[in-house]
Amino acid sequence: MKISEKGQTLLANYKRFQKIYILLLAVAAMSFVFLHNYFFAVALAVFTFVLETKYYKCPHCKKSLNSRKKIAEDSCCPNCNKYIFKDLD
Ligand SMILES: [Zn+2]
Repeated sequence: MKISEKGQTLLANYKRFQKIYILLLAVAAMSFVFLHNYFFAVALAVFTFVLETKYYKCPHCKKSLNSRKKIAEDSCCPNCNKYIFKDLD
């Protein structure tokens, strides 16, 4: 499938976001288990969640996407069923 340059950029950003997301959650889990720093763990988890709903969303219908799901060029939005990275102007 062919996607525009804008779609490619968005896909790259979302892939990067997924890595950061996992990293942040891992840090939150570790601070919970090893440092017993519950406040930091919860704060980080909430921050990660806010980040997800704010930035990780479908460019067509603006509904937030599940960042635990694998994303690719041909990924579809579960809400509007459009190709997420296609037909972006
Ligand atoms: Zn959508």
